[in-house]
Amino acid sequence: MKPKPNPPLALLAELTHRCPLACPYCSNPVELTRKEQELPTGTWLDVFREAAEMGVLHVHLSGGEPASRPDLETLVAGAREAGLYTNLITSGIGLTEKRLRALDEAGLDHVQLSLQGVDAALADRVGGYRGGFDRKMQVAAWVREIGFPLTLNAVMHKQNLDRLEETIDLAVELGARRIEVATVQFHGWAARNRAALMPTRAQAQRAREIVLAARERLKGILVIDYVPADHHAQFPKACMGGWGSTGLNVAPDGTVLPCHAAQTIPSLRFERVGDRPLRDIWENGPAFEAFRGEDWMQEPCRSCERRHIDFGGCRCQAMALAGDAAATDPVCSRSPLHARLVAEAEADAAVTEAEFVYRRMNSPALVS
Ligand code: SF4
Ligand code: SF4
Repeated sequence: MKPKPNPPLALLAELTHRCPLACPYCSNPVELTRKEQELPTGTWLDVFREAAEMGVLHVHLSGGEPASRPDLETLVAGAREAGLYTNLITSGIGLTEKRLRALDEAGLDHVQLSLQGVDAALADRVGGYRGGFDRKMQVAAWVREIGFPLTLNAVMHKQNLDRLEETIDLAVELGARRIEVATVQFHGWAARNRAALMPTRAQAQRAREIVLAARERLKGILVIDYVPADHHAQFPKACMGGWGSTGLNVAPDGTVLPCHAAQTIPSLRFERVGDRPLRDIWENGPAFEAFRGEDWMQEPCRSCERRHIDFGGCRCQAMALAGDAAATDPVCSRSPLHARLVAEAEADAAVTEAEFVYRRMNSPALVS
Protein backbone atom coordinates (compact mmCIF):
# COMPACT_ATOMS: atom_id res chain seq x y z
CA MET A 1 0.00 0.00 0.00
CA LYS A 2 1.23 3.49 -0.87
CA PRO A 3 2.14 5.77 2.06
CA LYS A 4 -0.27 8.65 2.65
CA PRO A 5 1.03 12.00 1.42
CA ASN A 6 1.78 14.65 4.03
CA PRO A 7 -0.94 17.29 4.27
CA PRO A 8 -0.49 20.42 2.16
CA LEU A 9 0.94 23.50 3.87
CA ALA A 10 -1.07 26.03 1.91
CA LEU A 11 -4.43 26.43 0.23
CA LEU A 12 -4.81 28.90 -2.62
CA ALA A 13 -8.45 29.94 -2.52
CA GLU A 14 -9.36 31.58 -5.83
CA LEU A 15 -12.47 33.30 -4.55
CA THR A 16 -13.47 34.82 -7.87
CA HIS A 17 -12.20 35.44 -11.38
CA ARG A 18 -13.76 38.90 -11.43
CA CYS A 19 -11.08 41.61 -11.53
CA PRO A 20 -11.11 45.28 -12.54
CA LEU A 21 -7.62 44.91 -13.99
CA ALA A 22 -6.88 43.13 -17.26
CA CYS A 23 -3.21 42.13 -17.00
CA PRO A 24 -2.01 40.38 -20.17
CA TYR A 25 0.15 38.06 -18.04
CA CYS A 26 -2.69 36.91 -15.79
CA SER A 27 -2.33 33.23 -14.91
CA ASN A 28 -6.10 32.74 -14.67
CA PRO A 29 -7.51 30.44 -17.35
CA VAL A 30 -8.61 31.98 -20.63
CA GLU A 31 -12.10 30.55 -19.91
CA LEU A 32 -12.89 32.61 -16.81
CA THR A 33 -15.48 31.51 -14.27
CA ARG A 34 -18.52 33.76 -14.07
CA LYS A 35 -19.98 35.24 -10.90
CA GLU A 36 -23.02 32.92 -11.00
CA GLN A 37 -20.73 29.87 -10.83
CA GLU A 38 -18.77 31.05 -7.77
CA LEU A 39 -18.98 29.13 -4.49
CA PRO A 40 -21.26 30.76 -1.93
CA THR A 41 -19.94 32.06 1.41
CA GLY A 42 -20.97 29.01 3.45
CA THR A 43 -19.20 26.56 1.14
CA TRP A 44 -15.96 28.55 1.33
CA LEU A 45 -16.21 28.53 5.12
CA ASP A 46 -16.59 24.73 5.02
CA VAL A 47 -13.54 24.51 2.76
CA PHE A 48 -11.46 26.54 5.25
CA ARG A 49 -12.56 24.33 8.15
CA GLU A 50 -11.80 21.16 6.23
CA ALA A 51 -8.43 22.51 5.13
CA ALA A 52 -7.43 23.42 8.68
CA GLU A 53 -8.58 20.02 9.97
CA MET A 54 -6.40 18.22 7.43
CA GLY A 55 -3.32 20.23 8.47
CA VAL A 56 -3.21 23.23 6.11
CA LEU A 57 -1.53 26.20 7.82
CA HIS A 58 -1.97 29.11 5.38
CA VAL A 59 -4.75 30.28 3.14
CA HIS A 60 -3.94 32.63 0.27
CA LEU A 61 -7.13 34.50 -0.60
CA SER A 62 -6.72 35.21 -4.26
CA GLY A 63 -8.56 35.59 -7.53
CA GLY A 64 -9.16 37.49 -9.77
CA GLU A 65 -9.54 40.28 -7.32
CA PRO A 66 -10.78 38.92 -3.98
CA ALA A 67 -12.13 42.35 -3.01
CA SER A 68 -14.72 41.85 -5.77
CA ARG A 69 -16.45 39.55 -3.26
CA PRO A 70 -18.59 41.58 -0.85
CA ASP A 71 -18.26 38.74 1.70
CA LEU A 72 -14.44 38.97 1.85
CA GLU A 73 -14.49 40.13 5.49
CA THR A 74 -16.69 37.15 6.48
CA LEU A 75 -14.38 34.78 4.61
CA VAL A 76 -11.30 36.18 6.37
CA ALA A 77 -13.00 35.87 9.75
CA GLY A 78 -14.03 32.28 8.96
CA ALA A 79 -10.55 31.29 7.82
CA ARG A 80 -9.05 32.80 10.97
CA GLU A 81 -11.61 31.08 13.15
CA ALA A 82 -10.64 27.79 11.53
CA GLY A 83 -7.05 28.51 12.62
CA LEU A 84 -5.53 29.45 9.26
CA TYR A 85 -2.96 32.20 8.65
CA THR A 86 -4.63 34.51 6.15
CA ASN A 87 -2.86 36.22 3.26
CA LEU A 88 -4.80 38.51 0.93
CA ILE A 89 -3.43 38.63 -2.63
CA THR A 90 -4.89 41.76 -4.18
CA SER A 91 -4.50 44.39 -6.87
CA GLY A 92 -5.75 46.87 -4.26
CA ILE A 93 -8.63 47.97 -6.49
CA GLY A 94 -11.87 47.69 -4.55
CA LEU A 95 -10.21 48.20 -1.17
CA THR A 96 -11.03 51.33 0.80
CA GLU A 97 -9.52 52.37 4.11
CA LYS A 98 -12.79 51.36 5.81
CA ARG A 99 -12.70 47.94 4.19
CA LEU A 100 -9.07 47.38 5.12
CA ARG A 101 -9.85 48.27 8.73
CA ALA A 102 -12.76 45.79 8.64
CA LEU A 103 -10.40 43.13 7.29
CA ASP A 104 -8.01 43.92 10.12
CA GLU A 105 -10.88 43.47 12.59
CA ALA A 106 -11.73 40.17 10.90
CA GLY A 107 -8.19 38.98 11.60
CA LEU A 108 -6.38 39.35 8.27
CA ASP A 109 -2.69 38.59 8.84
CA HIS A 110 -0.89 39.71 5.70
CA VAL A 111 -1.36 41.66 2.47
CA GLN A 112 0.28 40.90 -0.86
CA LEU A 113 -0.18 43.72 -3.34
CA SER A 114 0.46 43.30 -7.05
CA LEU A 115 2.50 45.88 -8.90
CA GLN A 116 2.19 46.27 -12.67
CA GLY A 117 4.80 49.03 -13.04
CA VAL A 118 6.66 51.78 -11.19
CA ASP A 119 4.66 54.72 -12.49
CA ALA A 120 1.12 55.40 -13.64
CA ALA A 121 1.94 55.38 -17.35
CA LEU A 122 3.52 51.91 -17.27
CA ALA A 123 1.34 50.32 -14.58
CA ASP A 124 -1.98 51.50 -16.00
CA ARG A 125 -1.02 50.39 -19.50
CA VAL A 126 0.02 46.91 -18.34
CA GLY A 127 -2.98 46.54 -16.02
CA GLY A 128 -5.39 47.95 -18.62
CA TYR A 129 -6.94 50.15 -15.93
CA ARG A 130 -6.62 53.94 -15.81
CA GLY A 131 -5.96 55.30 -12.31
CA GLY A 132 -4.95 51.87 -10.99
CA PHE A 133 -1.42 52.87 -10.00
CA ASP A 134 -2.46 55.91 -7.92
CA ARG A 135 -5.13 53.83 -6.23
CA LYS A 136 -2.60 51.12 -5.43
CA MET A 137 -0.19 53.64 -3.88
CA GLN A 138 -3.03 54.85 -1.66
CA VAL A 139 -3.88 51.29 -0.64
CA ALA A 140 -0.21 50.62 0.19
CA ALA A 141 -0.21 53.69 2.46
CA TRP A 142 -3.34 52.46 4.28
CA VAL A 143 -1.85 48.99 4.62
CA ARG A 144 1.23 50.48 6.25
CA GLU A 145 -0.82 52.76 8.50
CA ILE A 146 -2.96 49.86 9.75
CA GLY A 147 0.17 47.80 10.29
CA PHE A 148 -0.35 44.80 8.01
CA PRO A 149 2.90 43.18 6.92
CA LEU A 150 3.17 43.94 3.19
CA THR A 151 4.62 41.93 0.31
CA LEU A 152 4.77 43.36 -3.20
CA ASN A 153 4.18 40.97 -6.02
CA ALA A 154 5.85 42.21 -9.20
CA VAL A 155 5.44 40.16 -12.35
CA MET A 156 8.35 41.15 -14.59
CA HIS A 157 8.50 40.83 -18.37
CA LYS A 158 9.92 42.40 -21.49
CA GLN A 159 8.06 45.67 -20.96
CA ASN A 160 9.01 46.36 -17.33
CA LEU A 161 12.19 44.39 -16.61
CA ASP A 162 14.41 47.33 -17.51
CA ARG A 163 12.89 49.09 -14.50
CA LEU A 164 13.59 46.34 -11.99
CA GLU A 165 15.91 48.49 -9.84
CA GLU A 166 13.17 51.13 -9.49
CA THR A 167 10.66 48.37 -8.68
CA ILE A 168 12.81 47.19 -5.78
CA ASP A 169 13.33 50.79 -4.61
CA LEU A 170 9.57 51.34 -4.68
CA ALA A 171 9.04 48.29 -2.46
CA VAL A 172 11.41 49.81 0.12
CA GLU A 173 9.67 53.20 -0.17
CA LEU A 174 6.26 51.59 0.43
CA GLY A 175 7.50 49.85 3.56
CA ALA A 176 7.18 46.33 2.16
CA ARG A 177 9.02 43.61 4.05
CA ARG A 178 9.23 41.38 1.05
CA ILE A 179 9.02 41.58 -2.73
CA GLU A 180 8.39 38.71 -5.07
CA VAL A 181 10.15 39.45 -8.35
CA ALA A 182 8.47 36.86 -10.53
CA THR A 183 9.45 36.68 -14.16
CA VAL A 184 6.31 35.99 -16.18
CA GLN A 185 5.25 32.34 -16.50
CA PHE A 186 3.52 31.50 -19.75
CA HIS A 187 0.26 30.03 -18.49
CA GLY A 188 -3.29 31.32 -18.99
CA TRP A 189 -3.40 34.75 -20.60
CA ALA A 190 0.38 35.07 -20.67
CA ALA A 191 0.54 32.24 -23.21
CA ARG A 192 -1.47 34.49 -25.55
CA ASN A 193 0.98 37.33 -25.02
CA ARG A 194 4.32 35.64 -25.52
CA ALA A 195 5.63 38.09 -28.12
CA ALA A 196 4.65 41.10 -25.98
CA LEU A 197 6.05 39.68 -22.73
CA MET A 198 8.99 37.34 -23.40
CA PRO A 199 12.13 38.93 -21.94
CA THR A 200 15.40 38.88 -23.86
CA ARG A 201 18.27 36.77 -22.61
CA ALA A 202 20.16 40.00 -21.79
CA GLN A 203 17.23 41.24 -19.69
CA ALA A 204 17.06 37.92 -17.83
CA GLN A 205 20.79 37.96 -17.07
CA ARG A 206 20.73 41.58 -15.96
CA ALA A 207 17.70 40.88 -13.71
CA ARG A 208 19.64 38.16 -11.91
CA GLU A 209 22.55 40.54 -11.28
CA ILE A 210 20.21 43.26 -10.02
CA VAL A 211 18.47 40.86 -7.63
CA LEU A 212 21.76 39.51 -6.23
CA ALA A 213 23.13 43.03 -5.69
CA ALA A 214 19.88 44.27 -4.11
CA ARG A 215 19.71 41.27 -1.77
CA GLU A 216 23.17 42.22 -0.49
CA ARG A 217 22.37 45.95 -0.25
CA LEU A 218 18.98 45.48 1.43
CA LYS A 219 19.83 42.74 3.95
CA GLY A 220 17.60 43.18 7.00
CA ILE A 221 15.37 45.68 5.14
CA LEU A 222 13.71 43.79 2.31
CA VAL A 223 13.51 40.09 1.47
CA ILE A 224 13.63 39.51 -2.28
CA ASP A 225 12.15 36.29 -3.64
CA TYR A 226 13.08 35.75 -7.24
CA VAL A 227 11.49 33.57 -9.90
CA PRO A 228 13.91 33.67 -12.85
CA ALA A 229 12.99 33.57 -16.52
CA ASP A 230 12.75 29.84 -17.08
CA HIS A 231 12.97 29.95 -20.88
CA HIS A 232 16.52 31.21 -20.43
CA ALA A 233 17.45 28.80 -17.61
CA GLN A 234 19.40 25.55 -17.66
CA PHE A 235 17.02 23.61 -15.39
CA PRO A 236 13.33 24.05 -14.59
CA LYS A 237 12.04 25.24 -11.24
CA ALA A 238 10.49 22.85 -8.74
CA CYS A 239 6.94 23.60 -9.76
CA MET A 240 4.54 23.63 -6.75
CA GLY A 241 7.43 22.12 -4.72
CA GLY A 242 6.40 18.84 -6.33
CA TRP A 243 2.94 17.92 -7.65
CA GLY A 244 0.45 17.12 -4.87
CA SER A 245 3.13 17.72 -2.29
CA THR A 246 2.90 21.14 -0.62
CA GLY A 247 -0.21 22.99 -1.81
CA LEU A 248 -3.63 22.77 -3.39
CA ASN A 249 -5.91 25.25 -5.15
CA VAL A 250 -9.62 25.63 -5.06
CA ALA A 251 -10.96 27.44 -8.15
CA PRO A 252 -13.90 29.89 -7.91
CA ASP A 253 -16.43 27.16 -8.81
CA GLY A 254 -15.01 24.74 -6.22
CA THR A 255 -12.85 22.61 -8.53
CA VAL A 256 -9.94 21.26 -6.51
CA LEU A 257 -6.66 21.55 -8.41
CA PRO A 258 -3.06 20.48 -7.81
CA CYS A 259 -1.95 23.81 -9.37
CA HIS A 260 -3.67 26.82 -10.89
CA ALA A 261 -2.99 25.73 -14.48
CA ALA A 262 -3.78 22.01 -14.05
CA GLN A 263 -6.98 22.25 -16.10
CA THR A 264 -4.83 22.71 -19.21
CA ILE A 265 -3.99 18.98 -18.95
CA PRO A 266 -6.92 17.31 -20.72
CA SER A 267 -6.28 13.78 -19.38
CA LEU A 268 -6.82 14.81 -15.74
CA ARG A 269 -10.11 14.26 -13.92
CA PHE A 270 -10.93 16.85 -11.27
CA GLU A 271 -13.32 16.77 -8.35
CA ARG A 272 -15.17 19.58 -6.62
CA VAL A 273 -15.41 20.48 -2.96
CA GLY A 274 -18.39 18.62 -1.56
CA ASP A 275 -17.89 15.59 -3.87
CA ARG A 276 -15.99 13.97 -0.99
CA PRO A 277 -13.89 15.30 1.91
CA LEU A 278 -11.06 17.63 0.89
CA ARG A 279 -8.56 15.36 2.66
CA ASP A 280 -9.73 12.43 0.54
CA ILE A 281 -9.44 14.45 -2.68
CA TRP A 282 -5.88 15.47 -1.65
CA GLU A 283 -4.81 11.95 -0.68
CA ASN A 284 -6.57 9.89 -3.35
CA GLY A 285 -7.97 12.20 -6.03
CA PRO A 286 -6.94 11.06 -9.53
CA ALA A 287 -5.63 14.51 -10.50
CA PHE A 288 -3.36 14.60 -7.43
CA GLU A 289 -2.19 11.01 -7.85
CA ALA A 290 -1.34 11.50 -11.54
CA PHE A 291 2.07 13.13 -11.03
CA ARG A 292 2.78 12.63 -7.34
CA GLY A 293 6.13 11.01 -6.57
CA GLU A 294 8.32 9.63 -9.38
CA ASP A 295 6.54 6.63 -10.89
CA TRP A 296 5.11 8.69 -13.76
CA MET A 297 8.49 10.02 -14.87
CA GLN A 298 9.98 9.27 -18.27
CA GLU A 299 13.63 9.50 -19.30
CA PRO A 300 15.70 11.62 -18.95
CA CYS A 301 14.02 12.55 -15.62
CA ARG A 302 13.58 8.97 -14.40
CA SER A 303 17.33 8.41 -13.99
CA CYS A 304 18.38 12.02 -13.43
CA GLU A 305 20.13 13.01 -10.20
CA ARG A 306 18.10 16.27 -10.08
CA ARG A 307 14.68 14.57 -10.00
CA HIS A 308 14.37 15.12 -6.22
CA ILE A 309 15.25 18.80 -6.69
CA ASP A 310 12.98 19.94 -9.53
CA PHE A 311 10.59 16.95 -9.89
CA GLY A 312 10.95 17.11 -13.67
CA GLY A 313 9.71 20.72 -13.85
CA CYS A 314 6.22 21.96 -14.62
CA ARG A 315 3.61 19.43 -15.83
CA CYS A 316 1.46 22.12 -17.44
CA GLN A 317 4.46 23.48 -19.32
CA ALA A 318 5.33 19.95 -20.49
CA MET A 319 1.75 19.64 -21.75
CA ALA A 320 1.81 23.01 -23.49
CA LEU A 321 5.23 22.65 -25.10
CA ALA A 322 5.74 18.91 -25.54
CA GLY A 323 2.10 17.85 -25.88
CA ASP A 324 2.67 15.30 -23.08
CA ALA A 325 2.16 16.20 -19.42
CA ALA A 326 4.51 13.38 -18.32
CA ALA A 327 7.40 14.58 -20.51
CA THR A 328 10.47 16.35 -19.17
CA ASP A 329 9.70 20.05 -18.95
CA PRO A 330 11.22 21.43 -22.21
CA VAL A 331 12.71 24.29 -20.16
CA CYS A 332 15.28 21.69 -19.02
CA SER A 333 18.48 21.67 -21.08
CA ARG A 334 18.33 17.83 -20.98
CA SER A 335 14.97 17.76 -22.78
CA PRO A 336 15.14 16.82 -26.48
CA LEU A 337 12.79 19.76 -27.13
CA HIS A 338 14.94 22.34 -25.36
CA ALA A 339 16.68 23.71 -28.46
CA ARG A 340 13.31 24.34 -30.14
CA LEU A 341 11.99 26.04 -27.01
CA VAL A 342 15.01 28.35 -26.83
CA ALA A 343 14.70 29.25 -30.52
CA GLU A 344 10.99 30.11 -30.06
CA ALA A 345 11.72 32.12 -26.92
CA GLU A 346 14.47 34.06 -28.70
CA ALA A 347 12.10 34.78 -31.59
CA ASP A 348 9.38 36.06 -29.22
CA ALA A 349 11.93 38.09 -27.26
CA ALA A 350 13.14 39.78 -30.46
CA VAL A 351 9.66 41.16 -31.29
CA THR A 352 9.70 44.88 -30.55
CA GLU A 353 6.09 45.82 -31.32
CA ALA A 354 3.37 43.51 -30.06
CA GLU A 355 -0.09 44.44 -28.88
CA PHE A 356 -1.40 43.13 -25.58
CA VAL A 357 -4.31 40.72 -25.51
CA TYR A 358 -5.88 41.94 -22.28
CA ARG A 359 -7.53 39.53 -19.86
CA ARG A 360 -11.26 40.03 -20.14
CA MET A 361 -14.31 38.06 -19.04
CA ASN A 362 -15.76 38.40 -22.53
CA SER A 363 -13.94 37.58 -25.74
CA PRO A 364 -10.61 39.40 -25.60
CA ALA A 365 -10.12 42.56 -27.63
CA LEU A 366 -6.74 43.62 -28.92
CA VAL A 367 -5.68 46.86 -27.28
CA SER A 368 -2.30 48.52 -27.79
S1 SF4 B 1 -2.95 39.30 -12.72
FE1 SF4 B 1 -4.01 41.25 -13.04
S2 SF4 B 1 -5.90 40.69 -14.11
FE2 SF4 B 1 -5.09 38.78 -13.19
S3 SF4 B 1 -6.10 38.64 -11.22
FE3 SF4 B 1 -4.15 39.71 -10.88
S4 SF4 B 1 -4.62 41.90 -11.03
FE4 SF4 B 1 -6.36 40.76 -11.92
S1 SF4 C 1 16.02 15.80 -16.75
FE1 SF4 C 1 14.17 16.05 -15.47
S2 SF4 C 1 14.85 15.77 -13.36
FE2 SF4 C 1 16.69 16.10 -14.62
S3 SF4 C 1 17.11 18.30 -14.50
FE3 SF4 C 1 15.82 17.97 -16.30
S4 SF4 C 1 13.71 18.24 -15.61
FE4 SF4 C 1 14.99 17.96 -13.77
